[in-house]
Amino acid sequence: MSKILIVEDEEAIADLEKDYLELSGFTVEIANQGDVGLERAINEDFDLLILDLMLPQVDGFEICRQVRQQKNMPILMVSAKKDDIDKIRGLGLGADDYITKPFSPSELVARVKAHLDRYERLVGSVGPKNDLVEIRGIKIDKTARRVWVNGEETTFTTKEYDLLTFLAENPNRVFTKEELFREIWNMESVGDIATVTVHIKKIREKIEFDTAKPQYVETIWGVGYRFKV
Ligand code: CA
Repeated sequence: MSKILIVEDEEAIADLEKDYLELSGFTVEIANQGDVGLERAINEDFDLLILDLMLPQVDGFEICRQVRQQKNMPILMVSAKKDDIDKIRGLGLGADDYITKPFSPSELVARVKAHLDRYERLVGSVGPKNDLVEIRGIKIDKTARRVWVNGEETTFTTKEYDLLTFLAENPNRVFTKEELFREIWNMESVGDIATVTVHIKKIREKIEFDTAKPQYVETIWGVGYRFKV
């Protein structure tokens, strides 16, 4: 659910905006002072900012400028004066939209929805997608090097992670311990293939329901291991 911050010193207006947005399913917070609004917009996690221009402490111009520098979220600026709106446009502060008071609440809701949709599309299409490997209950986010086992995030050491990911990316293929050792530890590493056995055991303890009957990393006797799909 999208979270909206309204920075507005006129309480009646702020409350009205909040009511309408909440009726449309949004979560809404209000800041009545500019400095508080600025601090919250930057430090908390909001999806959209509705920003009045004339505010005590810090005005809407300054808030817009500072939020733009640090956050990527739609900013809708609100003012009672058409002239001010023109002025903001001229300053190029990076607000996404401008609304002149008085406006109808339904118009505000429509604009909020449009901007949230647009941002979602932008983030969805332009933002880099994480590289995922998903096999049954195991989800590996290669970009973030994070692993979830049945929906629960689980911590792996660097080598455990490398080994698990390598096997999961090459499912149904049998690898010997020598092959796995070469692949994960490289040649520069001093050690022996018993390291592989130890790491497989650790991985199983983290991903298998019953380590005696592995559902993911199978032992192929006399050969090595394979990740079963
Ligand atoms: Ca005001």
